[in-house]
Amino acid sequence: MTGFREAIQTHTRAGLLRRFAPRNDKWVELDLMSSSVAGPEIERLIQLLARLPGLGPRSARRAALHLIKKRDALMMPLSAALDVAIEKIEVCKTCGNIDTQNPCTVCIDPRRDPAILVVVADVADLWALERARATNGRYHVLGATLSPLDGVGPDDLTIEALVARAHDEKVTEIILALNATVDGQTTAHYITDLLQDANVRITRLAHGVPVGGELDYLDEGTLSAAMRQRTLF
Ligand SMILES: [Zn+2]
Repeated sequence: MTGFREAIQTHTRAGLLRRFAPRNDKWVELDLMSSSVAGPEIERLIQLLARLPGLGPRSARRAALHLIKKRDALMMPLSAALDVAIEKIEVCKTCGNIDTQNPCTVCIDPRRDPAILVVVADVADLWALERARATNGRYHVLGATLSPLDGVGPDDLTIEALVARAHDEKVTEIILALNATVDGQTTAHYITDLLQDANVRITRLAHGVPVGGELDYLDEGTLSAAMRQRTLF
């Protein structure tokens, strides 16, 4: 009778795998989708990691395993860093940046030019500009871009606060550092219309050939934008 207590499996006509196992003298079908190789605590860790951007279930399992193997060197410091982040990180009430102080480090930095306000959609864009040391201005984080298809309207963005900041007499230029996508450019036009009566110069990032880019590899939209916005050499 060996093997009788083991699970048996079969295929349906559609080719789907079905597996049965004995439970209390009855054969019950196992739910293969929820079958797991580890305890619920590890499964929970994997499920949470899989929710991170860029991580699918497979890479989440690898990340979880890596964390477990590096318990002292990585998992515990990461856990402690998450606890501190939960406790201390706030959204800056002036610009929408995230920091452990409010107003944020950028807003209170006296070396920053108060005349320039760089409008970005997301904190990730602010970080990208800071990494590049692209500007010495201060920022305004919208939180998103207008997207009628996704139901994101002006009230979902911090546009009202931006208009108020643009009317500050110290501000002379608003730089729209928004994505070169339909939503990004729709948002740029919407903001430009709203700021018509503000005494500021409104500029946007150039579109064109990326640094180190080869013309042959560029798409037609980028190439024609680069040609239209050519500058004096
Ligand atoms: Zn700030």
